[in-house]
Amino acid sequence: MKKTLLTFSISLLIAQLASATEATMPADKAKSDTTIYQNVNVIDSISDDLQKNMAIVVNGETIRALLPMSQLKQDSYPNATIVDAQSWYATPGLIETHTHVATQPNRQYAEFILNRQLYGGITTARDLAGDSRALADLSRAALVKEIPAPDLKYVALMAGPEFFSDPRTVSSGLGEVPGKISWMQAVDENTDMKTAVALSRGTWASAIKTYAKLNDKAMKRIGDEARKQGIPVWSHAHVGPARPMAVAKARVHSMSHACDMAAAAFTEEQLAKAESGELNGRVPVDLKSAKIDAVFEEMKTHNTVFDPTLRVEEWVANNAEKLKAQREKMAREMNKNPNAKGKASTKKKGIRAQCGFEDAVDLVRRAYKAGVKISTGTDGSTGNKDRYPALYDELRLLNEKVGIPMMDVIKAATINGAFSIGLENKIGTLEAGKQANISFFEQNPLDGSEHLRSVVLTVKRGSPYYRKDFVLGESGIPDEDG
Ligand SMILES: [Zn+2]
Repeated sequence: MKKTLLTFSISLLIAQLASATEATMPADKAKSDTTIYQNVNVIDSISDDLQKNMAIVVNGETIRALLPMSQLKQDSYPNATIVDAQSWYATPGLIETHTHVATQPNRQYAEFILNRQLYGGITTARDLAGDSRALADLSRAALVKEIPAPDLKYVALMAGPEFFSDPRTVSSGLGEVPGKISWMQAVDENTDMKTAVALSRGTWASAIKTYAKLNDKAMKRIGDEARKQGIPVWSHAHVGPARPMAVAKARVHSMSHACDMAAAAFTEEQLAKAESGELNGRVPVDLKSAKIDAVFEEMKTHNTVFDPTLRVEEWVANNAEKLKAQREKMAREMNKNPNAKGKASTKKKGIRAQCGFEDAVDLVRRAYKAGVKISTGTDGSTGNKDRYPALYDELRLLNEKVGIPMMDVIKAATINGAFSIGLENKIGTLEAGKQANISFFEQNPLDGSEHLRSVVLTVKRGSPYYRKDFVLGESGIPDEDG
């Protein structure tokens, strides 16, 4: 046994010596791991200024320096690869904070979506629940460059026991019983939370997603234990019965869906009737209620990011009937599947606030004015023939409908996304020491979100993906929403 160990150590030593020799080779023969992007207009997501005529020095996976061209000493970086960025505009790599690539796992579909995201300038994507077996594999494949894809961060889901009749939980946990799987756990206020959170972490997930049918006590216990074990919680803003204030008080990293915020405005009478079962479905609320503003204040206290998903709020408002039909169809298919052990149902219990798309826009505007960090999640995708990711729509809605200036929209799509993940020290800005995630555009995105379509190069972890090499693949599934 000892001998084996010794042999192993010696070969390790030889390997180390070999790499040391490489490092001391003459500079003109060494293969440099440095790339300098020259003549760049930089939007760094720190300052509010566009910095013209800059150089970005990337070494390996890291930004080594960001400086004016006039201060660049070329000979400090012998054998660096030089990329003349011809006055392109650089932003930190874009972050999609709400995607779903494995609800019904299909590798071809996932790769199609992720490829389009990466070549659209997206370097990190948060998947907000699906089959974690597939997501872990995709995440690893993205990391080791087996597939062109953003870094994929995904969740282990927790919800109240009643939730697990939703057809999507059957498809995301095929072969198992939804609610009794490490990535889809049914929990309540009495659950052994230490074990439940540890099981979530065991799926290699970046966060716990709290989804629905959780009460205030359960929500608080999840938040407390997750913090103790060092894993973020990404929540829906309304996980009924727990409403936005209870979710914010659980100190989660992010709260999704603009219209979920409206649940803060239920009256005591509505809540009592909902409790007794007298009231069900959509109920009118006072969307100007100060109770909603109080939630925004609470979010600010904990740096909680608001992930409003305006694109899907718009889609839902325009496609209520279609959505219902889709869910019913999915439930029927799932129940026919002999491998599905759970029973799918689309019956909804409890109350939701009436909230249209314009209401959602208004809620986001108020949150923005209150100083809440907004992120950019879509909860959807563009059609099979669309060459650009859904994220561009979200940025357009934030700019054109909500009225957020493009400089702040870009911060939403970068540094705020990083905060939502808990990676604000690693990604989200362009500065020395951060991961080299950079999106380049030929036209100035500050002049309008349509300029995102001039994307020309994505750099993820230092690796370049030129837009000219982009091939729109086959999604492998029929177009649903377009
Ligand atoms: Zn979602």
